[in-house]
Amino acid sequence: MDILLKNAVIVTQNNAREIFNGDIFINGNKIERIGKDLNEKVEEKMNCKGKLIFPGLINTHTHIVMTLFRGYAEGMQLHEWLAQKIWPAEAKLKSDDIYYGAMLGIAEMIQSGTTSFNEMYPFGLEKIAEAVKDGGIRASIGLGMLDKVPGHSTKDELKTNNAFIFSIKNNKSRVKASVCCHAPYTCSSELILKSKEYANKKNLQFHIHASETRKEVFDILKEKGKRPFEYLNSLKVLDEKTVLAHSVYVSKREIALAGKTKVNISHNPISNMKLAGGGVCPISEFARAGANVTLGTDGAASNNSLNMIETIKIATILQKNQYWDPRIISNQQILDFATINGARALGINAGSIAQGKLADLVIIDLNSPNMVPCHDAIANLIYAMNPSNISDVIVDGNFVMKERAIIAFDEEKILEKVSEVAKNVVSR
Ligand SMILES: [Zn+2]
Repeated sequence: MDILLKNAVIVTQNNAREIFNGDIFINGNKIERIGKDLNEKVEEKMNCKGKLIFPGLINTHTHIVMTLFRGYAEGMQLHEWLAQKIWPAEAKLKSDDIYYGAMLGIAEMIQSGTTSFNEMYPFGLEKIAEAVKDGGIRASIGLGMLDKVPGHSTKDELKTNNAFIFSIKNNKSRVKASVCCHAPYTCSSELILKSKEYANKKNLQFHIHASETRKEVFDILKEKGKRPFEYLNSLKVLDEKTVLAHSVYVSKREIALAGKTKVNISHNPISNMKLAGGGVCPISEFARAGANVTLGTDGAASNNSLNMIETIKIATILQKNQYWDPRIISNQQILDFATINGARALGINAGSIAQGKLADLVIIDLNSPNMVPCHDAIANLIYAMNPSNISDVIVDGNFVMKERAIIAFDEEKILEKVSEVAKNVVSR
């Protein structure tokens, strides 16, 4: 569809990080022109006076089906939480449950300004991919392989992974495949090594949890004689196409290594704090070292939302407080983490409003009490905005939300279905 968005405040996130009043012309799924007084003949013209447009937010680490377990297992330590509640409940999921759990997550993401997400899940990927297709959003999806847990073998995990990747025929469409290993403590060296080799061969992104808790860092150190980043580097995992989720407990040497290899870091502050990991991912140090810092929510079972707007604010204030320094990270840097850096981590041509970029945009109403006055548009986006300010969302050149209502699918039907499914899932 051709769309002309007129008279908006545009936070471009382009190379010069320009903010100006103007128009955006979308042709097909790409942004074709940005400027003043554009007059292209289009199918849809929208007057955006009083509105602000920014690039869609990019959530670089989640497990979308876990929306079904929102509020299900509260007040537990990560390792007990996984072993006693989450993994047993997940083992009972059926394919319809996976589809509706994913659709619920997509509805929540669209309404909170996310246009792309990076998914890792241990099964049911075909159903997640189907939900992404139906939901109108963009995603990178991978099988969270693990072989140090009973019932999972290296060979079978790789076989399922390869079959899924083969099923995603067009890796340039909204649904992309990635290669995922769950974590260094749940995967053998052989599995990590072979998976990364496969990702390189297929030119796909690689995604793994790393250094989320102090316990896992010391377990790996004991077993491998190396800290997790050093261990992963010895398996040739650290590079520009790998996303390391969490990265909380890291040494100065590991931060330097992340900078040198330009690996992508996904900081998930809400999940980390809710599971009481105790540490804070040093995003300001990672960024200074040269790593590509991005933000994620993690699953809704440990967050309990998929709201990136909330994540942006919490990541910022947590970092400032941790270092006793409000200058440690700038507002512009944080917005970069959630947009342009996220796009780089996922290997997608998005994250900024510039000619030739994918048309993934969020339109907000500036005429709301929490957004007035607007002395500093970026400060308002980071600290004052909430999902109720979002009026429209465009993904891949199509409106998925219009005038505050999702139009890509029937949201009411999804909510109704999910209430039924979620009740069944935890009572099986
Ligand atoms: Zn996770």
